[in-house]
Amino acid sequence: MNSVCGQCYCGACRYTVDPGPIQVIHCHCSMCRRQHGAAFSTWVSVGAQRFTLDAQEGAVRSFAVSERTTKFFCAACGTTLYHVTRGYDNVIGLLAGTLRTPVELRPTGHYFYSDRADWTAPPSDGLPLCGGPSGFEQLVR
Ligand SMILES: [Zn+2]
Ligand SMILES: [Zn+2]
Repeated sequence: MNSVCGQCYCGACRYTVDPGPIQVIHCHCSMCRRQHGAAFSTWVSVGAQRFTLDAQEGAVRSFAVSERTTKFFCAACGTTLYHVTRGYDNVIGLLAGTLRTPVELRPTGHYFYSDRADWTAPPSDGLPLCGGPSGFEQLVR
């Protein structure tokens, strides 16, 4: 996959991923919704070893969003850049909205769709809708 780079809103935190993403998904869980103040989050999974952060010491802060997951965000502008989950140490979950360069991959589906915001219209992109207790069971459209 092509390499990608991205940054926070103010530009204090930048990153490069080379080679680029493994997978792109839309997540409709309530955790994503609350953290990002948006209907859903689009995540780009990348190999942790391929990820290079370019930021001054202290420019990136972290917050434990759950027992296993920590988010990393810009201390100056607050943009969430990525998540790391214990047990999935080889993978970093980047927020697609922070990318500056095009991604060849396209999202594979809408996950945790059972938890979606009830004020959103169903997606018209034809991608699978997945939900249920795991968040990953295919739902009937
Ligand atoms: Zn920033
Ligand atoms: Zn989510």
